[in-house]
Amino acid sequence: MTQMNFTDKTKVAIIANGKYQSKRVAAKLFAVLRDDDAFYLTKKNPDIVITIGGDGMLLSAFHMYDKYLDSVRFVGVHTGHLGFYTDYRDFEVDELLNILRSDKGEKIAYPILKVTTTLEDGRQFTSKALNEATIKRIEKTMVADVVINKVQFERFRGDGISVSTPTGSTAYNKSLGGAILHPTIEALQLTEISSLNNRVFRTIGSSIIIPKKDKIEIIPKRQGTYFLSVDNKTYTHRNVAKIEYEIDKKKINFVATPSHTSFWARVKDAFIGEFDS
Ligand code: NAD
Repeated sequence: MTQMNFTDKTKVAIIANGKYQSKRVAAKLFAVLRDDDAFYLTKKNPDIVITIGGDGMLLSAFHMYDKYLDSVRFVGVHTGHLGFYTDYRDFEVDELLNILRSDKGEKIAYPILKVTTTLEDGRQFTSKALNEATIKRIEKTMVADVVINKVQFERFRGDGISVSTPTGSTAYNKSLGGAILHPTIEALQLTEISSLNNRVFRTIGSSIIIPKKDKIEIIPKRQGTYFLSVDNKTYTHRNVAKIEYEIDKKKINFVATPSHTSFWARVKDAFIGEFDS
């Protein structure tokens, strides 16, 4: 039997959450892939990241590997009840293994969001979001100018603002009353969080879809503490000068498996379910 060169092997990382069922699935995948000559298990520079858990686990794995988006593809196994980024159920692991064995590197790419935060002291932080990024002011009303592609669009007053990706449109954005966007539409969605609207203060009131290449800037008008979230991570900053949002040059790539459920099938499955015709 000829041994495969190390460089010919597919490097696979298995990332599971702490649930008993996830650990069980991870152990099975680990044992099978370790004994298969075509694969090399490593968390360093993997070609494929298999997440086991739910959407939260996939979001965490995305943030672990967001510096390697050019080379890494993701595939999710869900052991919970709802999976938006996960293609396989925990009882379909054998099917996933067969797919990985015949994998030719095909991928499905979705847009992600680039967020740049500038503080008043000049410090700048850049992050990538798979679902959305939000800014909120908790102690008092957030007052902020919304600038879209250099147009001073509105002065927002309210709890905060969310900017979501197309795949994130079914997450927090949907709860905020935003529209569901198909991920082939490379656009961002700005959604208000409890805006103040009366005879004195006015915002557009509906969510806005912003095309690729257009940039959104949020410029807080009051000093204070701001809560910034990027997917499942939150940060607190004093005195935020500006936050910029745009579609990132890179995309997230998923393993294009026959089970890679179509976006509308996911939406139906998650929110509508079966119905009597
Ligand atoms: P979590 O455990 O609170 O999960 C929130 C729920 O959102 C889970 O059911 C998850 O499956 C679902 N979800 C995640 N991404 C989704 C997507 N793209 N489409 C549809 N459903 C999706 O938190 P977590 O697992 O750490 O996930 C963080 C995400 O939770 C955030 O990115 C945000 O979108 C979402 N969230 C939603 C609300 C809300 O709807 N009111 C509030 C806060 C956060």
